[in-house]
Amino acid sequence: MADFLVALAEFDQRRAWIALGHASLFAFLTQRLGLSKAAAFFRMKAAEIIQRHPDVVAPFRDGRLCLTTVASLARVLTPENQAEVLPRFFHRSMQEAKAIAAELLPATNPPRRTVITAVPASTPRTAPVETRSQTVFLDEPISTVGAVLDPVSMPVEPTPVLRVEPLTASERRVHLTVSPAFLEKLEEARLALSHSLPGATVEDVLSAGLDLILDRDRKRKGLVANPRPAPAEASAEPGARYVPAAVRREVWQRDQGRCQWKLASGGICGSRLRVELDHVNLRCRGARPVAAELRLLCRSHNDLAAREALGDTVMDRYTRKRTAARRT
Ligand SMILES: [Zn+2]
Repeated sequence: MADFLVALAEFDQRRAWIALGHASLFAFLTQRLGLSKAAAFFRMKAAEIIQRHPDVVAPFRDGRLCLTTVASLARVLTPENQAEVLPRFFHRSMQEAKAIAAELLPATNPPRRTVITAVPASTPRTAPVETRSQTVFLDEPISTVGAVLDPVSMPVEPTPVLRVEPLTASERRVHLTVSPAFLEKLEEARLALSHSLPGATVEDVLSAGLDLILDRDRKRKGLVANPRPAPAEASAEPGARYVPAAVRREVWQRDQGRCQWKLASGGICGSRLRVELDHVNLRCRGARPVAAELRLLCRSHNDLAAREALGDTVMDRYTRKRTAARRT
């Protein structure tokens, strides 16, 4: 196992999973090696921590360090505290490691959280969608801030997991950590709905808000009730920027909302995360906004397609700009 993890760290450092057609190390581990999400997660975390702290290899090798503790260890380990902190994780279980990490991380460093903000249509594509802030709690496994902010290292299908407790077949109890500001907003929304939804529960209010988000998303995909008819051939000119709603709808339905990137090992990427329309031929090379010349790709594979078409030099400039914008 230690040999595998060392090799995996080196493999990840070279981002060799890209050459094999995968969107992330996590995708490689699950899709190519067939590991479960949990097994893939722990190995991914181990590969990351080995790259940053090569001293963890020896304790992995002789069994002092358990694979299930790496996520907790990674949260608190720094080059400065390594000599003192690393031994505290030896011979610990996952739960014990969580407790140690909680003790070392003071209350000033709350669980990683993410706000999903509304992105107006006029916002440039380079704008950050997620910012590191409060409210919606993403579960520990996949929501490390780095992973959220770096699309290339993102797992294929990270599911924001709430702490959910099944009560009956039709009822779930959700544990959600929120700020006072969120509660104020919730109350305002409840009052705003008091005419149309008198006596609305929290679920009613949040559900109404989610409907608005989903409606906007359906518009983006052209999945509206009465799409305008497909345009005359004239507006499907080579290089046209605008993709008509009817065409967006056709592509989203045909591709079933999934990334269509073909994997070397057969099949497609299939991710539903950050999926966008892609011109199979570049717009600057005369692609037309018609369904036959469009497909859905996830962000990672859209970048990869552009790299293959335009070359790394152009894309590095573009990606650096985007990364810089994302960090501000
Ligand atoms: Zn993809």
